Amino acid sequence: MSYSYDDQNIFAKILRGEIPNDTVLETEHTLAFRDIQPQAPVHVLVIPKGAYVCHDHFAAEASEAEIIDFIRASAKLCDMLELSPGAGHDGYRTISNAGEAGIQDVPHYHLHILGGRSLGRMVPKPE
Ligand code: AMP
Repeated sequence: MSYSYDDQNIFAKILRGEIPNDTVLETEHTLAFRDIQPQAPVHVLVIPKGAYVCHDHFAAEASEAEIIDFIRASAKLCDMLELSPGAGHDGYRTISNAGEAGIQDVPHYHLHILGGRSLGRMVPKPE
């Protein structure tokens, strides 16, 4: 598999400190910040600091340390943002868009965490 990473994408610029972000959590390998156009009362983006294009790229090629850090950071965020059903909260949705069919706008892997309202069905039915 061959992935081509564009280091001029907006999240790469955020990671280099070239543009600001509203950070919620930063760990060794992971950054989480609020989405600039929130689709729900809580809308946070979780990104690895490494140069990965999409979910399968990250899952296949990231180190175990990066993957564990990313997944544990996402759990911490669900706790911090009071979304976890395990703590009696209402729940949330994670989404990761990939490529053209997934309508991915920013070609740096990211997980959306959405919550704070009922989110409706996962994928709208076609008209
Ligand atoms: P996707 O369509 O899955 O690639 O999602 C990209 C997300 O990045 C969208 O929800 C945008 O609102 C969000 N976004 C774009 N630029 C920024 C930015 N500078 N800071 C925070 N979120 C951003």
